[in-house]
Amino acid sequence: MVKRVGVLALAADPVHIGTGGYSIGRVDNTIVRDPITNIPKIPATSLAGTWRYYTCLEIHKYFKTDYRLHRTSRKEKPLSDILVEEAPEWVKGYEANRYAALKCAGQDESPGLNIADVEEKDTGHCGRCLVCRGFGFSKKDQSWQGMIFFSDLNILFFPVFTREGTRWISTPSLMQEAGLLGDAETEEEEAIKVCFTGEEVEETKEGAINLGWLYLPYRWEKMNYRGLKIGRWELRAEDIVLVEKEFFSSIVNSNLEVRTSVAIDPLTGAAREKALFTSEAVPRGTIFKGEIRIFDKAAFAGLLEEELPSEQQLKNALEDAGRFFHTLGIGGMTTRGFGRMHLVLTDIEED
Ligand SMILES: [Zn+2]
Repeated sequence: MVKRVGVLALAADPVHIGTGGYSIGRVDNTIVRDPITNIPKIPATSLAGTWRYYTCLEIHKYFKTDYRLHRTSRKEKPLSDILVEEAPEWVKGYEANRYAALKCAGQDESPGLNIADVEEKDTGHCGRCLVCRGFGFSKKDQSWQGMIFFSDLNILFFPVFTREGTRWISTPSLMQEAGLLGDAETEEEEAIKVCFTGEEVEETKEGAINLGWLYLPYRWEKMNYRGLKIGRWELRAEDIVLVEKEFFSSIVNSNLEVRTSVAIDPLTGAAREKALFTSEAVPRGTIFKGEIRIFDKAAFAGLLEEELPSEQQLKNALEDAGRFFHTLGIGGMTTRGFGRMHLVLTDIEED
């Protein structure tokens, strides 16, 4: 009944998901962190809101120009007449997409309207299209929870510049949970640097590496690393450094990107006095992991006027719309070189 789809994301720019005016130490614009581990993350709320908008944009692009802006213009036209030829199956194969509009994203501007009146009044969430059914809506006569459940995106590998070049830091348990390590004792074992502390350091260390201000001894350990590919980019075993999980949070937090900006005085066009501010961001090259669960609500279909989008239609919609993360990005300062991410979804699995 519930299916899961894994999400991997590679930050192509620094990513800033702000906390809204909360400052720590010398940083004015801080980013969202997990309260338990203190590690920055991309919260599911940002991901879901942005993805909803991008799914609307993706549907929008397949409407013929005349039918794009106003739902009223599509009245009594079959879906096939409204859409361009190249529309993918998840757009043209789900009849209620005829009500979709950019207004199906963002806050509903007319939550007090009945679903049946949306087409006539042409305002707010439609309550019918794949976006409204997939992400949820609330109208006067009906509320619907949505079928797509997002998790937070947590950091899986964090890039740090070392004297050997850039290395991707993680912990053995994060790699294990991500399914990147197979059973030990196979023929394809690869050597991975594992940093360690404790009494046996002097006898068993095979080198040491600087991770920001930390200088940690390591030894090589043979692991059955399954490899990680995002688009054309591939993480090689020799670029991975594993640390004890107690160190991970401080390595991440002491190697974030901190950018300083200054407000411009609109009268003089020069920097305004005392208007210097700093913003934190997760650096480019960071790899995040999360998951999406798709709840197949076929059993509820009888309660609604239309049938529901299938799991595969929803997954394909997320995948196509997900490409916008690589062009328009997520979070703050996306017009100033922040926020682009490369997203990859795994195949649908039973939960
Ligand atoms: Zn809608």
